[in-house]
Amino acid sequence: MGIVLIQYIKYDHITYCEKNLNLDLKTSSYPVASRYPVRISKYYFDLIKDENDAIWKQCMPDIQELDDSCCNSPDPLEEKSLSPVPGLIHRYPDRVVILVSSRCAMYCRFCMRKRLVGTDENPMSESDFSNAVDYISSHTEINDVILSGGDPLMLDDSSLFSILKALRAIQHVKLIRIGTRIPVTLPDRVTAGLCAILRKFQPLYINTHFNHPDEITESSTTACTLLSDSGIPLGNQTVLLKGVNDSVEIMRNLMKGLLGIRVKPYYLHQMDLVQGTAHFRTPVSTGLKIISALRGHISGLAVPHFVIDLPGGKGKVALLPNDINIKGSKLLIRTYTGEEVVYEDILE
Ligand SMILES: *Cc1c(COP(=O)(O)O)cnc(C)c1O
Ligand code: SF4
Repeated sequence: MGIVLIQYIKYDHITYCEKNLNLDLKTSSYPVASRYPVRISKYYFDLIKDENDAIWKQCMPDIQELDDSCCNSPDPLEEKSLSPVPGLIHRYPDRVVILVSSRCAMYCRFCMRKRLVGTDENPMSESDFSNAVDYISSHTEINDVILSGGDPLMLDDSSLFSILKALRAIQHVKLIRIGTRIPVTLPDRVTAGLCAILRKFQPLYINTHFNHPDEITESSTTACTLLSDSGIPLGNQTVLLKGVNDSVEIMRNLMKGLLGIRVKPYYLHQMDLVQGTAHFRTPVSTGLKIISALRGHISGLAVPHFVIDLPGGKGKVALLPNDINIKGSKLLIRTYTGEEVVYEDILE
């Protein structure tokens, strides 16, 4: 395995808040910024329409991030203990996550990897990456590799190319996935050159991360179109966030809007119990209500799975609204309109 030199892209517009702290941050958020890095791309910053709107809340530091009274684990999913080599998480039998970057175009205030992103700690050195490749090579049961971080698309094109090439060279790796928020936070990064690289490594899936209909803009649409036209299937993972997208109407518009730009809603995530993010958490019933209000009312293609990633590294579980009542061979099933219909089951 050759050495992969990991370089980040240089992009003037990604250090907006780092350079302009006094411009937009209230003094009360300075202690927050010193604990959890702040970065907002100029593009994303310009999407803010009002103080405290859904865009603002996702990117502006909030004093509530320092409240550790509810959950105080930086890593409730125990990703560290599931790492046989640094930067690689092996939780499920046939697939692994590798954290190839610790940077993002913006640091989302609700991030589940708040412990890591934007810190100097690089999740993966070159020798870590080489060890990760060795680990995957020697575990033939691994056929799905997910690049995550941080944001993998913060790497420059040639670093990304080397990483993908090394993974594709492993015979039993069938699928490569990239998790990235770049189409939402720095859409100009999705260039024809990047797409030309990605398309060489198919089947390659991208899961992006839209949380609000206001994030579907001309620029983010262009980024997604470029990727789709390069033959890359796009999925979306949304995090359910209090005060940002915890309403049926917003979710309906978001999910339908995503289908309109050829992005398939994949997961709706219940917030993880990560330190510094408690103020974004909604009760599980909120997610279930949203799913009930989507299912049947809009295209099934637009309805994501609502998942909880269980603490302790136990994995993701999809939760469904309780719409079945079993009485022997008779099932009472509630339809999307609320009607109860009897379904005659077979008895074994
Ligand atoms: C979410 C996740 C995956 C991928 O799960 P899918 O349900 O296949 O999308 C793989 N590994 C880890 C550690 C994860 O957290
Ligand atoms: S882009 Fe993803 S990894 Fe980066 S801060 Fe936002 S949620 Fe976290």
